[in-house]
Amino acid sequence: MKAAAVFPGTKTLGVVKDFAEPKLTSPTGVKLRILSVGVCGTDREIASFVYGTPPDGSDYLVLGHEAFAEVVEVGAAVTDFRPGDLAIPMVRRPCAAPGCVACRAERPDFCMTGEYTERGIMKMHGFMTDLVVEEARYLNAVPAAIRDVGVLVEPLTIAEKALLEAVKVQSRLPWEFSAYPHRAVVLGAGPVGLLGAMALVNHGYAVTVYSLEREPNASAEIVKAIGGKYISSQDRTVEQMAAEVGAIDLVYEATGASKLAFDVLRVLGPNGLYVLTGVPGRHGPTEFDTDTIMRNLVLHNQCVMGTVNAGKDAFEHAIADLQAFDAKWPAAVRALITGRFGIDDFATPVLHPKGIKNIIEIAH
Ligand SMILES: [Zn+2]
Ligand SMILES: [Zn+2]
Repeated sequence: MKAAAVFPGTKTLGVVKDFAEPKLTSPTGVKLRILSVGVCGTDREIASFVYGTPPDGSDYLVLGHEAFAEVVEVGAAVTDFRPGDLAIPMVRRPCAAPGCVACRAERPDFCMTGEYTERGIMKMHGFMTDLVVEEARYLNAVPAAIRDVGVLVEPLTIAEKALLEAVKVQSRLPWEFSAYPHRAVVLGAGPVGLLGAMALVNHGYAVTVYSLEREPNASAEIVKAIGGKYISSQDRTVEQMAAEVGAIDLVYEATGASKLAFDVLRVLGPNGLYVLTGVPGRHGPTEFDTDTIMRNLVLHNQCVMGTVNAGKDAFEHAIADLQAFDAKWPAAVRALITGRFGIDDFATPVLHPKGIKNIIEIAH
């Protein structure tokens, strides 16, 4: 089989031509034919060799963590999946530490040791190949109705985990959090930001997306198509944006730009929740008005939260929400996928991303 890989030893990218076909050996295993795999900033980081680790004993790492697949064979003990079903595998696998409460509870997205593994990222080959074998408990069933956009489920899980946690965190407030209308600001208009905006609108938030690029642009069109508002940071300062939005109840950060993130933290509204999802590069220290930030956090009962990866609950919510998005905004959902590439061309969208979401199409 072919597999799209990075070779950290030689700092090169290439297609492995003789990648071994995996065998179904466990009674709880499932063999999957990969249909498509999304490309994101994590793949770009791995391909620039600042991140990512091959499995022990391999000089390369097969890329791809945002997979969408079809079941081709199941182990004798698998009852939830049958050949022909569509499935999305989760990315992270538990560490082995007996004391890691998170991993022992099957929530490696909260792993406490950092010894977890991740498909296509950390010590496990990814999904940019023809066939993979996965334990059934790491798979989520996807209805055929969203077959053409199912590849968006994994990036949507970032927002879904954030929203699930937001409800829990804001249950600290002495009234019913969901009983009043909320204003949300999304930072960034890439796939994670736009999918987050869709999830927030779908959950009843009034959403403003604050991003660098001026209108007209494709992301702004998507924001408007879903009933959100788009503001370019070249046209409005952070203060002007906040004045236009009104009291901000929730910020969903999806840029990985730490300077912008902490600038916007200054304008979070009373009792607000600030959710960080981006992973910045290490660009060295920068200056902040920490007095203002700390005064606001205390005097306005604010909360700042980081979130990474996702558990099964977030995957289930993402699959349900993507169907809801597809029913409300079919054109906007499809407009998120702007580039389709074959496996032989995988390096193009990884190294030179254009548009919003690029995907590698492996089978139909
Ligand atoms: Zn990703
Ligand atoms: Zn762990």
